[in-house]
Amino acid sequence: MAKIFCVANQKGGVGKTTTTVNLAAGLAKVGQRVLMVDLDPQGNATMGSGIEKRKLELSVYDVLLESASVAEVRVQGDKLVAAGCSYDILGANRELAGAEVELVDLERREKRLKRALAEVEKDYDFILIDCPPSLSMLTLNGLCCAHGVIVPMQCEYFALEGLTDLVNTIKQVHANLNRDLAIIGLLRVMFDPRITLQQQVSEQLKAHFGDKVFNTVIPRNVRLAEAPSYGVPGVVFDPSSKGAQAFVAFAQEMVERMTIFK
Ligand code: ADP
Ligand code: MG
Repeated sequence: MAKIFCVANQKGGVGKTTTTVNLAAGLAKVGQRVLMVDLDPQGNATMGSGIEKRKLELSVYDVLLESASVAEVRVQGDKLVAAGCSYDILGANRELAGAEVELVDLERREKRLKRALAEVEKDYDFILIDCPPSLSMLTLNGLCCAHGVIVPMQCEYFALEGLTDLVNTIKQVHANLNRDLAIIGLLRVMFDPRITLQQQVSEQLKAHFGDKVFNTVIPRNVRLAEAPSYGVPGVVFDPSSKGAQAFVAFAQEMVERMTIFK
C-alpha cells in the first residue's frame, strides 16, 4: 500500500514543486513506484514532469469532480520514461481553479481525492501531492488523504513564523478529518551554507523540531531551477549536479524513514 505525502507550505516560491518532482524522480530512480498528483492550478509540477498542461484531455479536476477515475487520468512523461526515472502523473491546469468553487456545494467535498486514490493505492509505494500555496479546499483534499506532510522551507528569518498557520491547519485536519495526518518532516531547501543567517536558522529548526527535520539538506543549485524549462526534474536533467544528488539522497532518506513510519 502506498504511503501518501503532501508537499505543503502556504507560502509561494518556497520550493514545493521542485521538491515534489525531484523527490518523485529520486524515488523512481531508487526503484520505488510513484504517483505524483499536481493539486496546483498553475500546473508547474505537470509541466516540470514533461506534460503539456494545455493539452491534457483529463486532469485531476476530473478526478475531484468524479467524472473520471485516477486510472483514466494518469499519464507518463516521455522524457522520464526514456531516462528510466518514470513516475505516473495526475496533471493539473487552470481548470482546477474552478474546482475550488464547484466543490463547495458538493458532499464529501474534502474527501474526494482520498476516495479516488484508494482505488490505486496498491499500485504504488509512494503518492506525492504538490499543493498550491494556500490552505484552500484543494490543499484540504490533499491533507485529508495524506499520511504525512513534507514541508519545504528556506532558512530565513521569518521561516518559523510562517509555519504557525500550517501547523494549526494540520492539527485541525488531524482532529476532525484525518487521524493519520502528521508533519513527517521539515526539509531545508535552497540552502546556502555561506550565509551565516541560514546556518543559524537551520540550527534553530533542529533545536526546535528535533528529528522532524530531515537530515538531507537541499542546496541552492541553478541546475534545479533550469530543469523545468526542459520538462524534466533536476534529478533527470543533470544527475551529477549537487541539487540532483541531494534529492536522490532525500529519496533514500524517505525510503529509510518508511521502515520506522508505519
Ligand atoms: P513553490 O512550488 O513553493 O512555489 P518552486 O518549487 O516553484 O516553489 O520554486 C520557486 C523557484 O525557486 C523556482 O523558480 C525554482 O526553480 C527555484 N528553486 C527551487 N528550489 C531551488 C534550489 N534548491 N536551488 C535553486 N533554485 C531553486
Ligand atoms: Mg508550486
